[in-house]
Order: sequence, then structure tokens, then C-alpha cells
Amino acid sequence: MGERATTIATVPALAEVERDAKTCTRCQLAHGRTRVVFGVGDAGADLMFVGEAPGQQEDLQGEPFVGRSGQLLDKMVLEEMGLTRDRFYIANTVKCRPPGNRDPQPAEIAACGPWLEAQVDLIDPKVVVTLGNFATRLLLDDTRGITKLRGRAYPYRRGVLVPTYHPAAVLRGAGDLAAQMRADLVRAKQYLGGGTAAP
Ligand code: SF4
Repeated sequence: MGERATTIATVPALAEVERDAKTCTRCQLAHGRTRVVFGVGDAGADLMFVGEAPGQQEDLQGEPFVGRSGQLLDKMVLEEMGLTRDRFYIANTVKCRPPGNRDPQPAEIAACGPWLEAQVDLIDPKVVVTLGNFATRLLLDDTRGITKLRGRAYPYRRGVLVPTYHPAAVLRGAGDLAAQMRADLVRAKQYLGGGTAAP
């Protein structure tokens, strides 16, 4: 990963977008945030994860997936894909914490969309793994829920999109969700190796 010629230009361009995003006031979530949680990882990676929204720890530290959900995600990605966090990029659908960890509202998702779009444009990953309903519905432009949409890969930009559960749902749910999420990560790894998704 990280060997495309565009990588040289991607890093400063992404840093510039991040600098702009850090002062964003496009939606009401700007009022309650401690920090904008833009994203972290290898800007030249072939693999990108997209989650939902920052939680309390993420808001305080300015980094996505640093709480219990993030620890579970890191563990599963290492065990199923053999990758540590420096080998992929990870961001959320909205970059500021919704109060009380409520769901992001449609207007907030729409307002924040251009930041995520810029990230996906610049990183140009071969495989995008969406974590949960919000990222999956947004990027697939599909109103169905994650339980209906997961279990396969979808053609997406230069590669594929693989939907899976948000790790917070796995933490709350039964063991079966964990097994399904692991299967999704194995699927994503196969596409990193060069597979193409059926339309
Ligand atoms: S959630 Fe997104 S659109 Fe809203 S203020 Fe934060 S960065 Fe801007």
C-alpha cells in the first residue's frame, strides 16, 4: 500500500483540507465540539474505513476510534487483515461529536459530506469499508440498513465498498455480529488483493 504516484501530492493536499476543516462551522455540531476529528492514517493507503461520528474520547483527543470501539476495530483488523493503523486511513461521516452521542442528523451529514468527499477523492482508496448504517447509506446512496447491505462488496470508485457493522454495535450485540464483521473484513482483504465486485 501507499505506493501510488499520487501519494506525493496527496499528503500536503489532505493536510490543507484538514486545516480548513478544523475551523468549520457549517453545521450546529460546531458549537458543542472540543476538537474537529478529521481523520488519521496513511493518506496513500489502499484501504479506508469510514465510521459514524466522534464519541467523547475522540472529541477530547481529536482522533477517530480511540475508545473501546476503536480498540475492538484495531484488534479485528489486525487479526483478520494483518494490518495495523498506520497501514490504512480512518475517518468519520461527521467530524464533530453530536451532543450526548446522539445519531447525526441528516442536515449535519449533508453539511459534513464535502469533507469526507475530499478525503475519499484525495486518498483514492481501492477498498472502502463502511462501519454501520450512516456511512454505508451515505456512500452507497441506499436507504436500506446495514444488516441488509452487508455480506457483499459493491463497485465503488476505482475499487469496491465493503459494508460492515460499526464496532460499537458489535460491543453491544451478540457474538454473531462479531463473526459477521470478521467475515466482512476478510472479504475486504480479498479485494485489497485485486478482486473486483460484481455490479
Ligand atoms: S460536523 Fe462537519 S460540517 Fe458540522 S461543523 Fe463539524 S466539520 Fe463542519
